[in-house]
Amino acid sequence: MAEIMKLANKHLIPVTPRGGGSGLAGGAVALKGGILLDLVRMNRIIHVDIAAKYMIVEAAVRTLDIQNEAKRHGLLYAGDPCSSDDCVIAGNVATNAGGNKAVKYGVTADQIYELEIVTPQGKILTLGGRLKKNSTGYSLIKLIAGSEGTLGIITKITLKLQKLAPLLPNFLAIFPNLAAAVTLVEALLAEKNALEMFC
Ligand SMILES: Cc1cc2nc3c(=O)[nH]c(=O)nc-3n(C[C@H](O)[C@H](O)[C@H](O)COP(=O)(O)OP(=O)(O)OC[C@H]3O[C@@H](n4cnc5c(N)ncnc54)[C@H](O)[C@@H]3O)c2cc1C
Repeated sequence: MAEIMKLANKHLIPVTPRGGGSGLAGGAVALKGGILLDLVRMNRIIHVDIAAKYMIVEAAVRTLDIQNEAKRHGLLYAGDPCSSDDCVIAGNVATNAGGNKAVKYGVTADQIYELEIVTPQGKILTLGGRLKKNSTGYSLIKLIAGSEGTLGIITKITLKLQKLAPLLPNFLAIFPNLAAAVTLVEALLAEKNALEMFC
Protein backbone atom coordinates (compact mmCIF):
# COMPACT_ATOMS: atom_id res chain seq x y z
CA MET A 1 0.00 0.00 0.00
CA ALA A 2 2.82 2.36 0.94
CA GLU A 3 4.64 1.64 -2.34
CA ILE A 4 1.45 2.32 -4.35
CA MET A 5 0.99 5.65 -2.56
CA LYS A 6 4.64 6.65 -3.14
CA LEU A 7 4.33 5.85 -6.83
CA ALA A 8 0.98 7.66 -7.17
CA ASN A 9 2.36 10.68 -5.32
CA LYS A 10 5.47 10.83 -7.49
CA HIS A 11 3.48 10.67 -10.75
CA LEU A 12 0.47 12.70 -9.43
CA ILE A 13 -1.97 9.85 -10.05
CA PRO A 14 -5.32 10.18 -8.18
CA VAL A 15 -6.03 7.33 -5.73
CA THR A 16 -9.55 6.38 -4.55
CA PRO A 17 -9.83 3.80 -1.76
CA ARG A 18 -12.89 1.55 -1.83
CA GLY A 19 -14.47 -0.63 0.83
CA GLY A 20 -17.90 -2.22 0.45
CA GLY A 21 -19.09 0.47 -2.01
CA SER A 22 -22.22 1.22 0.08
CA GLY A 23 -21.35 4.86 0.87
CA LEU A 24 -24.19 7.14 -0.17
CA ALA A 25 -21.94 10.10 -1.07
CA GLY A 26 -20.23 8.10 -3.83
CA GLY A 27 -16.77 8.72 -2.34
CA ALA A 28 -15.56 5.29 -3.47
CA VAL A 29 -16.17 6.09 -7.14
CA ALA A 30 -12.96 7.03 -8.98
CA LEU A 31 -14.40 10.11 -10.68
CA LYS A 32 -10.94 11.50 -11.40
CA GLY A 33 -9.65 8.21 -12.85
CA GLY A 34 -6.28 6.95 -11.65
CA ILE A 35 -6.05 4.07 -9.18
CA LEU A 36 -9.11 2.54 -7.51
CA LEU A 37 -7.70 0.82 -4.42
CA ASP A 38 -9.99 -2.08 -3.59
CA LEU A 39 -8.83 -3.36 -0.21
CA VAL A 40 -10.98 -6.51 -0.36
CA ARG A 41 -8.09 -8.89 0.42
CA MET A 42 -7.18 -7.05 3.63
CA ASN A 43 -9.90 -8.97 5.44
CA ARG A 44 -8.25 -10.59 8.46
CA ILE A 45 -9.38 -10.32 12.04
CA ILE A 46 -5.92 -10.18 13.59
CA HIS A 47 -6.60 -10.43 17.30
CA VAL A 48 -9.43 -10.37 19.84
CA ASP A 49 -8.56 -9.63 23.46
CA ILE A 50 -11.48 -10.71 25.60
CA ALA A 51 -10.12 -9.49 28.94
CA ALA A 52 -9.08 -6.05 27.70
CA LYS A 53 -12.09 -5.85 25.32
CA TYR A 54 -10.53 -4.87 22.00
CA MET A 55 -10.18 -6.30 18.49
CA ILE A 56 -7.53 -5.62 15.86
CA VAL A 57 -8.74 -5.89 12.26
CA GLU A 58 -7.55 -5.18 8.76
CA ALA A 59 -9.30 -2.52 6.67
CA ALA A 60 -11.75 -4.62 4.70
CA VAL A 61 -13.27 -6.87 7.34
CA ARG A 62 -17.04 -6.76 6.88
CA THR A 63 -18.73 -4.92 9.74
CA LEU A 64 -21.18 -7.79 10.31
CA ASP A 65 -18.25 -10.22 10.69
CA ILE A 66 -16.74 -7.95 13.35
CA GLN A 67 -20.07 -7.80 15.20
CA ASN A 68 -20.42 -11.60 15.02
CA GLU A 69 -16.85 -12.24 16.12
CA ALA A 70 -17.32 -9.98 19.15
CA LYS A 71 -20.61 -11.72 19.98
CA ARG A 72 -18.92 -15.13 19.74
CA HIS A 73 -16.71 -14.00 22.62
CA GLY A 74 -19.61 -12.59 24.66
CA LEU A 75 -18.74 -9.00 23.65
CA LEU A 76 -20.33 -6.22 21.63
CA TYR A 77 -18.85 -4.18 18.80
CA ALA A 78 -21.12 -1.14 19.07
CA GLY A 79 -20.61 0.28 15.56
CA ASP A 80 -23.81 -0.70 13.79
CA PRO A 81 -24.65 0.97 10.45
CA CYS A 82 -27.77 -0.54 8.86
CA SER A 83 -25.57 -1.63 5.94
CA SER A 84 -23.36 -3.83 8.18
CA ASP A 85 -23.72 -6.86 5.90
CA ASP A 86 -22.37 -4.87 2.90
CA CYS A 87 -19.88 -2.37 4.29
CA VAL A 88 -16.38 -2.83 5.73
CA ILE A 89 -14.76 -1.31 8.76
CA ALA A 90 -12.41 1.12 6.96
CA GLY A 91 -15.41 2.45 5.02
CA ASN A 92 -17.19 2.96 8.35
CA VAL A 93 -14.19 4.87 9.69
CA ALA A 94 -13.80 6.93 6.51
CA THR A 95 -17.48 7.95 6.65
CA ASN A 96 -17.65 8.01 10.46
CA ALA A 97 -20.75 5.88 10.15
CA GLY A 98 -23.50 6.07 12.73
CA GLY A 99 -26.22 3.49 13.13
CA ASN A 100 -28.69 1.80 15.41
CA LYS A 101 -26.55 1.96 18.55
CA ALA A 102 -25.13 5.46 18.03
CA VAL A 103 -27.41 7.17 20.55
CA LYS A 104 -26.01 4.99 23.31
CA TYR A 105 -22.43 4.25 22.19
CA GLY A 106 -21.58 7.01 19.71
CA VAL A 107 -20.48 6.85 16.06
CA THR A 108 -17.58 4.89 14.53
CA ALA A 109 -14.93 7.40 15.70
CA ASP A 110 -15.98 6.61 19.27
CA GLN A 111 -15.25 2.89 18.79
CA ILE A 112 -11.57 3.33 17.84
CA TYR A 113 -8.48 2.98 19.99
CA GLU A 114 -5.88 3.01 17.24
CA LEU A 115 -5.66 3.49 13.48
CA GLU A 116 -2.92 2.57 11.04
CA ILE A 117 -2.93 4.70 7.92
CA VAL A 118 -0.75 5.14 4.86
CA THR A 119 -0.32 8.81 4.05
CA PRO A 120 -0.47 10.18 0.48
CA GLN A 121 3.36 10.29 0.61
CA GLY A 122 3.51 6.56 1.47
CA LYS A 123 4.39 6.86 5.16
CA ILE A 124 2.83 4.32 7.52
CA LEU A 125 1.51 6.05 10.66
CA THR A 126 -0.13 4.71 13.80
CA LEU A 127 -2.58 7.15 15.36
CA GLY A 128 -4.14 7.03 18.83
CA GLY A 129 -3.37 4.23 21.27
CA ARG A 130 -4.98 1.47 23.23
CA LEU A 131 -5.62 3.61 26.29
CA LYS A 132 -8.78 4.96 27.84
CA LYS A 133 -6.96 7.99 29.14
CA ASN A 134 -5.35 9.17 25.94
CA SER A 135 -4.96 12.92 25.99
CA THR A 136 -1.64 13.37 24.19
CA GLY A 137 -1.44 15.59 21.13
CA TYR A 138 -4.03 16.26 18.46
CA SER A 139 -7.04 13.98 18.13
CA LEU A 140 -5.96 12.60 14.76
CA ILE A 141 -8.37 9.66 14.83
CA LYS A 142 -11.26 12.13 14.82
CA LEU A 143 -9.65 13.92 11.89
CA ILE A 144 -9.39 10.74 9.83
CA ALA A 145 -12.89 9.56 10.78
CA GLY A 146 -15.23 11.04 8.19
CA SER A 147 -12.45 12.16 5.86
CA GLU A 148 -13.73 9.85 3.05
CA GLY A 149 -10.26 8.73 1.99
CA THR A 150 -8.96 12.25 1.39
CA LEU A 151 -6.21 12.15 4.05
CA GLY A 152 -4.78 8.65 3.67
CA ILE A 153 -5.54 4.96 3.36
CA ILE A 154 -6.79 3.23 6.50
CA THR A 155 -5.14 -0.19 6.73
CA LYS A 156 -5.57 -1.46 10.30
CA ILE A 157 -7.90 -0.58 13.15
CA THR A 158 -7.98 -1.41 16.87
CA LEU A 159 -11.61 -1.36 17.94
CA LYS A 160 -13.12 -1.01 21.40
CA LEU A 161 -15.49 -3.75 22.50
CA GLN A 162 -18.19 -3.57 25.15
CA LYS A 163 -19.78 -6.01 27.51
CA LEU A 164 -22.63 -7.71 25.67
CA ALA A 165 -25.98 -6.82 27.22
CA PRO A 166 -28.38 -9.70 27.83
CA LEU A 167 -30.78 -10.33 24.96
CA LEU A 168 -33.80 -8.09 25.42
CA PRO A 169 -36.95 -8.04 23.31
CA ASN A 170 -37.52 -5.37 20.66
CA PHE A 171 -40.56 -3.22 21.06
CA LEU A 172 -42.37 -0.47 19.20
CA ALA A 173 -43.96 2.37 21.16
CA ILE A 174 -46.22 5.06 19.73
CA PHE A 175 -46.29 8.52 21.33
CA PRO A 176 -48.68 11.43 20.75
CA ASN A 177 -45.80 13.87 20.15
CA LEU A 178 -42.00 14.25 20.11
CA ALA A 179 -41.79 15.78 23.60
CA ALA A 180 -43.52 12.76 25.12
CA ALA A 181 -41.22 10.36 23.23
CA VAL A 182 -37.94 11.95 24.36
CA THR A 183 -38.87 11.76 28.04
CA LEU A 184 -38.36 7.98 27.81
CA VAL A 185 -34.94 8.03 26.09
CA GLU A 186 -32.80 7.97 29.22
CA ALA A 187 -34.77 5.17 30.87
CA LEU A 188 -34.75 3.10 27.66
CA LEU A 189 -31.02 3.48 27.11
CA ALA A 190 -30.28 2.29 30.64
CA GLU A 191 -31.81 -1.06 29.65
CA LYS A 192 -31.40 -1.28 25.88
CA ASN A 193 -28.56 -0.61 23.48
CA ALA A 194 -30.39 0.62 20.38
CA LEU A 195 -33.03 3.22 19.75
CA GLU A 196 -34.58 4.52 16.53
CA MET A 197 -37.21 7.21 16.17
CA PHE A 198 -39.62 7.65 13.25
CA CYS A 199 -41.65 10.84 12.93
C1 LIG B 1 -28.89 0.15 2.95
C2 LIG B 1 -27.88 1.12 3.52
C3 LIG B 1 -27.94 1.43 4.87
C4 LIG B 1 -27.02 2.35 5.42
N1 LIG B 1 -27.09 2.64 6.76
C5 LIG B 1 -26.23 3.53 7.29
C6 LIG B 1 -26.31 3.86 8.68
O1 LIG B 1 -27.12 3.34 9.43
N2 LIG B 1 -25.41 4.78 9.15
C7 LIG B 1 -24.48 5.36 8.35
O2 LIG B 1 -23.71 6.20 8.82
N3 LIG B 1 -24.38 5.05 7.02
C8 LIG B 1 -25.22 4.14 6.48
N4 LIG B 1 -25.12 3.83 5.14
C9 LIG B 1 -24.06 4.40 4.32
C10 LIG B 1 -22.82 3.47 4.18
O3 LIG B 1 -23.15 2.12 4.35
C11 LIG B 1 -21.77 3.83 5.18
O4 LIG B 1 -21.32 5.11 4.86
C12 LIG B 1 -20.57 2.87 5.24
O5 LIG B 1 -19.80 3.26 6.37
C13 LIG B 1 -19.69 2.86 4.01
O6 LIG B 1 -18.78 1.77 4.10
P1 LIG B 1 -18.23 1.04 2.80
O7 LIG B 1 -17.29 -0.04 3.23
O8 LIG B 1 -19.35 0.59 1.94
O9 LIG B 1 -17.41 2.22 2.14
P2 LIG B 1 -17.32 2.69 0.61
O10 LIG B 1 -18.65 3.08 0.09
O11 LIG B 1 -16.54 1.71 -0.18
O12 LIG B 1 -16.43 4.00 0.82
C14 LIG B 1 -16.94 5.08 1.56
C15 LIG B 1 -15.84 6.15 1.68
O13 LIG B 1 -14.77 5.63 2.45
C16 LIG B 1 -13.55 5.71 1.71
N5 LIG B 1 -12.76 4.53 2.07
C17 LIG B 1 -13.09 3.23 1.91
N6 LIG B 1 -12.10 2.44 2.35
C18 LIG B 1 -11.11 3.26 2.80
C19 LIG B 1 -9.81 3.05 3.36
N7 LIG B 1 -9.30 1.81 3.54
N8 LIG B 1 -9.08 4.13 3.72
C20 LIG B 1 -9.57 5.39 3.54
N9 LIG B 1 -10.77 5.65 2.99
C21 LIG B 1 -11.53 4.60 2.64
C22 LIG B 1 -13.97 5.73 0.26
O14 LIG B 1 -12.98 6.35 -0.56
C23 LIG B 1 -15.25 6.56 0.34
O15 LIG B 1 -14.95 7.94 0.38
C24 LIG B 1 -26.04 2.94 4.58
C25 LIG B 1 -25.98 2.61 3.21
C26 LIG B 1 -26.88 1.71 2.69
C27 LIG B 1 -26.78 1.36 1.23
